[in-house]
Amino acid sequence: MTILDGKATSAKYKQAIAAEVAERIAQGKKQPHLVAILVGDNGASKTYVASKEKACNEVGFKSTVLRFPAEMTEADLLKEVARLNADSDVDGFIVQLPLPAHIDEQKIIEAIDPSKDVDGFHPENVGRLCLGLETFVSATPYGIMCLLEEYGVETKGKHCVVLGRSNIVGRPMANLLSQKGYPGDCTVTICHSRTRNIASYTKDADIIVAALGSPEFLKGDMVKDGAVIVDVGITRVPDETAAKGYRIVGDVAFDEVAPKASYITPVPGGVGPMTIVSLMRNTLLAAQRREK
Ligand code: NAP
Repeated sequence: MTILDGKATSAKYKQAIAAEVAERIAQGKKQPHLVAILVGDNGASKTYVASKEKACNEVGFKSTVLRFPAEMTEADLLKEVARLNADSDVDGFIVQLPLPAHIDEQKIIEAIDPSKDVDGFHPENVGRLCLGLETFVSATPYGIMCLLEEYGVETKGKHCVVLGRSNIVGRPMANLLSQKGYPGDCTVTICHSRTRNIASYTKDADIIVAALGSPEFLKGDMVKDGAVIVDVGITRVPDETAAKGYRIVGDVAFDEVAPKASYITPVPGGVGPMTIVSLMRNTLLAAQRREK
């Protein structure tokens, strides 16, 4: 069994991005600038934005975090999005999800200029992904594809089961894995909360991507020997013995599944760091495209 080490791979990618940024600056080009909008006080969102800010510093990007109270109106957030769309110093920006319930997330996503939508959530970018056109691939599926490629995991003709059909993970993941070429060329099954007898699909899978948000959902008896396991899940489970009062648990029962797997991502240290570095790659790409 081989660990798909997202921490080590992302560190390598970050070095490459940092070298490219240094070269850009030496050529008199602009420092890529990523802006994150954070609305409200969600603990997990604050942690994610802090990780993105840290990664920006590591690769030499300019990073700005705009923090707003949970009471911010939808109209004011739309104004902020319009301002960033128009700001020529900003190469890319993200609106950290989830947003407070009174704000229509889809409306906000659709207001973002697709050329600055480094999260790849705008319908135009999602549509381009579905058509196999150049786009911003959303960070988590992008990071997973890179990790599979980094380890030379065979995907052609494999049966891949994606657990979860969210717009940000499950659906784009299924799309990418079914695209022509490497990594891709998989036969893909998507499972969700209405799927009957999920184990019957996972037991047949060569590759499983678990993106449910259901701690340790995938058990040892649900996978076949030699399967490739990608665990996207991040759930904070209360734990009095942990300093923060919680621990992070994935969607895979790692101790049961790992002995049967050929490759497996750990949680933490698997998909999470690959997601962050993929956002950095998209931001660099946005800066490069804006020069053309
Ligand atoms: P989401 O929007 O809540 O979607 C979850 C999907 O899983 C839905 O399609 C849901 O089915 C399905 N589902 C949930 N419980 C299920 C069950 N018991 N059986 C079958 N299907 C079930 O979540 P998400 O945004 O895709 O995120 C999924 C997980 O990945 C979360 O833990 C999240 O924190 C994590 N995540 C991690 C990263 C990272 O960088 N590592 C990035 C993004 C997300 P329905 O559609 O039928 O409701």
